[in-house]
Amino acid sequence: MAKKYVYSFGGGKAEGKAEMKNLLGGKGANLAEMAGHKDLRLPVPPGFTITTEVCTHYYENGRKYPSALKEEVNKAIKKVEQIMGKKFGDVHDPLLVSVRSGARKSMPGMMETILNCGLTEKTIIGLIAKTKNERFAYDSYRRLMTMYADVVMEKAAGLEPAEGKGVRKQLEHILEKIKKEKNYKNDSDISVADLKNICRLYKAKIKEVLGKEFPEDPYEQLWGSVSAVFSSWQGKRAISYRRIEGIPDEWGTAVNVQSMVFGNMGDSSATGVAFTRHPGTGENQFFGEYLVNAQGEDVVAGIRTPAPINKYSQSDYNRHLKCLSEIMPATYRALDSIRKRLEKHYHDMQDIEFTIEDGTLYMLQCRSGKRNGPAAVRMAMEMIKEKLIKKEEAVMRVTPSQLDELLHPIIDPKVEKAAKILAKGLPAGPGGAAGQIVFTANDAVEWVKKGKKVILVREETNPEDVEGMRAAEAILTARGGMTSHAALVARGWGKCCIVGCSDIVIDLPAKTMHVKGTALKEGDSITLNGSKGTFYQGMLSMINAAEENELFNAFLKVCDSIRTLKVRTNADTPKDAARARAFGAEGIGLFRTEHMFYGKDSEEPLFKLRKMIVSKGVDERRKALDELYPYVKKDIKGTLAAMDGFPVTIRLLDPPLHEFVPHGKEQMQNLAASLGISIEELEKRAATLRESNPMMGHRGVRLGVTYPEVTEMQIRAVLESAAELLKEGKKIIPEIMIPVVGTVKELDHQYEIAKKVYGEVLAKYNLKKIAHLFGTMIETPRACLTADKLAASAEFFSFGTNDLTQMGFGFSRDDIGGFLPDYLGKGILPEDPFQSIDIEGIGQLMEIGVEKGRAVRKNLKIGICGEHGGDPASIEFCYKIGMDYVSCSPYRVPIARLAAAQSVIKNGKKKK
Ligand code: PEP
Ligand code: MG
Repeated sequence: MAKKYVYSFGGGKAEGKAEMKNLLGGKGANLAEMAGHKDLRLPVPPGFTITTEVCTHYYENGRKYPSALKEEVNKAIKKVEQIMGKKFGDVHDPLLVSVRSGARKSMPGMMETILNCGLTEKTIIGLIAKTKNERFAYDSYRRLMTMYADVVMEKAAGLEPAEGKGVRKQLEHILEKIKKEKNYKNDSDISVADLKNICRLYKAKIKEVLGKEFPEDPYEQLWGSVSAVFSSWQGKRAISYRRIEGIPDEWGTAVNVQSMVFGNMGDSSATGVAFTRHPGTGENQFFGEYLVNAQGEDVVAGIRTPAPINKYSQSDYNRHLKCLSEIMPATYRALDSIRKRLEKHYHDMQDIEFTIEDGTLYMLQCRSGKRNGPAAVRMAMEMIKEKLIKKEEAVMRVTPSQLDELLHPIIDPKVEKAAKILAKGLPAGPGGAAGQIVFTANDAVEWVKKGKKVILVREETNPEDVEGMRAAEAILTARGGMTSHAALVARGWGKCCIVGCSDIVIDLPAKTMHVKGTALKEGDSITLNGSKGTFYQGMLSMINAAEENELFNAFLKVCDSIRTLKVRTNADTPKDAARARAFGAEGIGLFRTEHMFYGKDSEEPLFKLRKMIVSKGVDERRKALDELYPYVKKDIKGTLAAMDGFPVTIRLLDPPLHEFVPHGKEQMQNLAASLGISIEELEKRAATLRESNPMMGHRGVRLGVTYPEVTEMQIRAVLESAAELLKEGKKIIPEIMIPVVGTVKELDHQYEIAKKVYGEVLAKYNLKKIAHLFGTMIETPRACLTADKLAASAEFFSFGTNDLTQMGFGFSRDDIGGFLPDYLGKGILPEDPFQSIDIEGIGQLMEIGVEKGRAVRKNLKIGICGEHGGDPASIEFCYKIGMDYVSCSPYRVPIARLAAAQSVIKNGKKKK
């Protein structure tokens, strides 16, 4: 059968449905669902969707369409004409259409829209005759000219005018000038005569700027618009947005052509956007904004202040405006009932667009609404309670990055109470953020590259600003409502954002702003509270709020009831261990012994370690080790105690020893003096430790082979700590782990030491048994390939994917930053392999390791403790290959619990 390129909807029927998003795009699929599904059949203006396959074809064939397309479009237009009882291009009663983009995933404001297509000097006569509304007809005509000249004749034609010189800006100047001359406050105040004049001036301006006439043929307008929408898929801002969001270029966009309904027909008409629940808090309340006598994009564009649809949607910013529920109560009730039906049907919060044409309500769009982390968690939990969704669906509703938002800081309430509010806007994206002011998206990107934290302050944001918005800590705008571009985008990213703060007056050329008498310039610091909409001068301190959030904890319990993968943490201090436990960690997967020699309180143990490192011969070393022993034991014992009841994996000393020798002359002199040796002697001993390639040098198990007494001391510290805690009645499960192993002989060498020490500790404490495990890290390719041999000695494996990636890929962990941006930019690597496991290569090594290990030891305990243990995609991979646990930094533990649950839902339960 020939491919079908066009899908019609309207009149209670539809050829498409919600499941066809890949082909029809999100907007097209949902229009079909709303129009045609038997449970909905909502008032959707009829239209048709040109599929994403046409977009792909268009780009693969030098911007040409499939030959059958024209015929299909003509047939689809006929259907719309029949339902509407009007004809496209008819001079007596013309059908007008909108032409909009719609990709699989929503890309707010990134692609183009043309409204009122089909309006010409001839058809406008029919429109006036039919509507008896000349004002409306000319208003629609000038809007069409603006959009068409900008989108089709300029952007799609590849013209790139200088900043401020684009045709849209020039047309807007004409409008502004007349508004000023005649003292019009709003667009809707402009008289018919002036509108007619504006249309004339627009036409002349278009010819002057673009050197071409505005087309007066309806079909030329239609195909020009369709092509422009397809072209916008390869527009600059759409491309940047796709990069940020990870949307593949091959998806393409669909084009939706739909009969126009008019929100600009007078005071009984309106247009609006709404969310079936509050997208910023998740509260189960209808929330939205609308504008009377306005069309399409006016609400989103933030040009006029939208009014609240109901009392709940009121804010300080729009309280003076009348609610829709008051001025059109019956239409509001109809809308509210549609809200309920949509939620029941989609089982999710919907973001809807509606238009009221002379009192009649139409639905123009619905889709799953973007929401921030706190709202996502609240909705998921409440929808389980309302029996709208099952717990598995609830778990899939929250993305790991949304959960991460709840772990993000808020302004310390005590500090905030004492601070003076500079001004207030709309709370569009919650949480707190502090940074230096920048006024352009480019500056935001540049400053962040230099390691600065910035707040992007704009009059209003537009889609060109996405990269700067992404780079900034937070966004603050002077104009725009809760559904403006800035608010929508920030919410999608979970970014702190305040919009519509009308107290800000920005002087862009001077890079300054005034806020109620306070002057601020580029580089000055401010702090935003995106949950309240308030902001402050200076950098206020932040705290984390997740631990006290009941819904957050309840949601994670739901995740726990589904997941099978255990989640541990990488922690080196009792404090970190306690924090990780509060986040739900079920043990420590990596305790890096060496961390006791860095940072706070490390001076004394570090000195003892240095003494051991530069000692001459075994006897001197043993003596130094005896002095070091109490420090090591205290640290290990503290952490084991904090993890009472849970396993703790303690890794033996890993880094090359020269890392601990001081570098500066003065420090060397001090050390020599403390050790009672000459500086020359110290330098001589230190020189023997220097290596050309220390990451592959004398480190890991190799240290233990050269200095067995160092291994012995550490294992004794572990087992004696365990023995003492056991006697105190604690349940201690230490796991001794050997790093950077390449062959089983290394492991056996260390195992012999462990066995000897174990016997001695049992005797010393008069115990029969101390439960413990002896195992290895798997972090060299050879360890993966010989995992069967290693498993004969090791009772557990823990994948050290940091080193495994380094050695498997041959990329230095420390130097990859020098070339990674090129690799990512040129598409050679899809992402940083040190953040997300390279499944194709390193993943294969891991699979071999797991398979070979378990072939020899069926119940071999296997986990991961590299950075990847906190990365959702890597966690899913670990689940798929049958690992028992993942281990990650304390703050990633909640994300890992969620990712582990989602892995089960996506891949089914694993049998081991
Ligand atoms: C690893 O290599 O993945 C690992 C956890 O060890 P480290 O990062 O300490 O080398
Ligand atoms: Mg390592």
